[in-house]
Amino acid sequence: MLIGVLALQGDFVQHQRVLSELDVLTRQVRTPSELTGLSGLILPGGESTTMLKFMQEEGLIKPIEQFWRAGGALYGTCAGAILLARYVSSPTQFSLGLLDVSIERNGYGRQINSHISQEPCEPLGTPPLPMVFIRAPVINKVGPTVSVMAKHRGEPVLVCDDRVLASTFHPELTDDLRVHRFFVEDIAQTRSHLTSI
Ligand code: GLN
Repeated sequence: MLIGVLALQGDFVQHQRVLSELDVLTRQVRTPSELTGLSGLILPGGESTTMLKFMQEEGLIKPIEQFWRAGGALYGTCAGAILLARYVSSPTQFSLGLLDVSIERNGYGRQINSHISQEPCEPLGTPPLPMVFIRAPVINKVGPTVSVMAKHRGEPVLVCDDRVLASTFHPELTDDLRVHRFFVEDIAQTRSHLTSI
């Protein structure tokens, strides 16, 4: 199994570190052809407007959507979650729309409001998950088919639906491997039937 990490901007190397700790092979993705043969793709944290601009320049928008339609799994952290959402606010911006949530950029405020928390996540067991929020968005609405796996201050922070996982926090900046393991083993491995795109 091979997992791609979108490597246009942001903390893609940290995701590769976590996946290598899980003995999962990774590939940095910068062009559409690099999606071929992947079981899953991680869209990292960073700056969603910048990432979007590079995705448009590289012609990656449609290919990522096709990758998902063909059975590929997607996991977006923070800015990556913004790119996957159906609706983006403050300010509004284009998104892939593959996850039925509304998301508000910088929903906790500015950089000074970045924070760390621990929250229970029943599907991933004990102990509570460590969560690093960096200029994080807030998911303020989820569609009926979206599962909320964890919350923080009453809002969903880890959600999943139809081969799309999203977290508004950064598990790749902690030593806890459970979110990535869940993505690899429960979403990318068991539910993707990707042959070619
Ligand atoms: N604030 C960033 C954005 O709106 C996301 C921050 C992050 O990914 N840590 O794109």
